[in-house]
Amino acid sequence: MADRASEAVRWAAFDRLRAGRAIAVADLAADVQFGMDELGEVLGGLVAAGLLERDTDGIVVGSHGLTLRPTVHHLVLDGVALHTWCALDAVAIPAALGVDAELTTCCGWCDQSLRVTAVAGRPRGGEELRVWVPGMDCENVLEQFCPFANLFCGSDHLEQWRVGAGEPPGHACTVTEIADLGPTWWSRDPDCCTPGAGEGQPW
Ligand SMILES: [Zn+2]
Repeated sequence: MADRASEAVRWAAFDRLRAGRAIAVADLAADVQFGMDELGEVLGGLVAAGLLERDTDGIVVGSHGLTLRPTVHHLVLDGVALHTWCALDAVAIPAALGVDAELTTCCGWCDQSLRVTAVAGRPRGGEELRVWVPGMDCENVLEQFCPFANLFCGSDHLEQWRVGAGEPPGHACTVTEIADLGPTWWSRDPDCCTPGAGEGQPW
């Protein structure tokens, strides 16, 4: 799912979602200058791969990790209240954009509320926190990767979850390590997107 049309569409949607508003398909078509038929085909492929979300009316409400649909991961991104598909998104996206952010989520094991503040994209404190980066291949990122990419109080709670979950493939990162990778995961291909297609994304 790294073809140029798909990349252009999901980045255009991501950019609009940053303002906190849902996106009519006609507006997205204008952004990427695709006909409605072509755009419909691209949107269908992105939704099937779990890389874009539409509501029941077809309005685009999520793309590339950002969503207007309430999830456990609340992210105030550069002053705009949003949600993300997973904890990895919530740490990596501010880092990629270099903006201030505040993530509020819950430990994936004990449900304790956790908060990560980022200044110019860099997490402040929280060295004890861990993010689980699932390691399996997936056909639908939103359904198969994101539910497991959670934040944990520390290594001990992540390990208790991991053992309880049957020791799935993947690895643990600190929030600083996720922030270091954010600009690579959320980089656009200048050939098909206004200003970097992500290479080396974990999904
Ligand atoms: Zn915990």
